[in-house]
Amino acid sequence: MSSRPGRHFLQIPGPSNSPDRILAAMAKPTMDHRGPDFGIFGKKLLNDIRGIFRTKQPVIIYPSSGTGAWEAALVNLFQPGDRLLMIETGQFATLWQDLALRLGLDVEFISGDWRRGVQPEEVEEKLKADSGKTIKGICMVHNETSTGATSRVFDVRKAIDAAGHDALFLVDSISGIGCADYRHDEWGVDVTIGGSQKGLMTPPGLGMNVIGPKALQVSQAGGVRRSYWDWAAMLELNSGGYFPYTPATNLLYGLREAIDMLNEEGLENTFVRHERLASAARQAVQAWGLEMQIEVADERSNVLTAVRVPDGCDADHVRAVILKNFDVSLGNGLGKVKGKVFRIGHLGDFNEPMLLGTLAAVETGLRLANVPHQSGGVDAAMRYLADTA
Ligand SMILES: *Cc1c(COP(=O)(O)O)cnc(C)c1O
Repeated sequence: MSSRPGRHFLQIPGPSNSPDRILAAMAKPTMDHRGPDFGIFGKKLLNDIRGIFRTKQPVIIYPSSGTGAWEAALVNLFQPGDRLLMIETGQFATLWQDLALRLGLDVEFISGDWRRGVQPEEVEEKLKADSGKTIKGICMVHNETSTGATSRVFDVRKAIDAAGHDALFLVDSISGIGCADYRHDEWGVDVTIGGSQKGLMTPPGLGMNVIGPKALQVSQAGGVRRSYWDWAAMLELNSGGYFPYTPATNLLYGLREAIDMLNEEGLENTFVRHERLASAARQAVQAWGLEMQIEVADERSNVLTAVRVPDGCDADHVRAVILKNFDVSLGNGLGKVKGKVFRIGHLGDFNEPMLLGTLAAVETGLRLANVPHQSGGVDAAMRYLADTA
């Protein structure tokens, strides 16, 4: 590998760029995770992370990927044969479903074409049809990172209530948290699943479960035999700021810094920044005359934009051309949309010149790869940023 000048642009929709402040925080020496200083540090961290999820409930932090946090939620609550309702918004919803099936759960999967978010009416209809109340859990993805759809979590909550159903409500906000408005308590979510490496700007390696009171109660008598993922063991030690096993201490230093940064900016301001930069990106895509993967404008994510390439073009080739020529990494098409879309991540530690640099690299790459398109996307984004400055 030869050295390349300038910064690599990591514009995949997670892991996102970790700012220097977070990297510097992580470079501190690892402390004794059983010592007195850790208890003080851990207690404050576990308290403060709750503000990011807008909850007063406990947040558990595992040394794991997001996938681990998916599994943790399911094994603490459900047993083989239990019925779950899941919704196919894209690849991440599909992977969570696959995981549930491997655990022996009986999943009803509402199928989707990967071009929309969750439709609350469909959830309501399925729950109304479940007159025997055999469905034990409803699982949805807040921000579907494979397609760029943000779903209306609170409207799904209302649909569950309208159906008079008492199933637990589980939401994956691994790529939504820290970028898009999210309210665990106000939206009546029972378990939220989070991760460190997307909106929380911290390197990969932390998975989170936010545990509401009803879920906690179900977990005490329910779930399957478990050890590493056990909420009870974790909560017991977390009350003193400690963990039942060695935590990912240096990643926790990074997360501590991330929470401070989000609070310094103000969460609401963070959401507004993401909305504005995402809108500018969408202006560019529109000007190129390319299609967005998500058909309905108000379901388009402020975290990433998935762009469809015209028939006969290969999105992975376009990405490869952009990486080779400009050292910019874009997200690939996953699962059903492999080769058909590329994804522009505009999340986390991100600002206007980073967006404009990314869009300029994309536009030049479209030209180099001979993808039929109109020029002027970057100009449209610049105009939008100027109009909204
Ligand atoms: C990234 C992501 C995951 C998976 O997280 P890993 O850390 O890769 O296990 C799950 N769901 C969503 C919505 C994601 O964006």
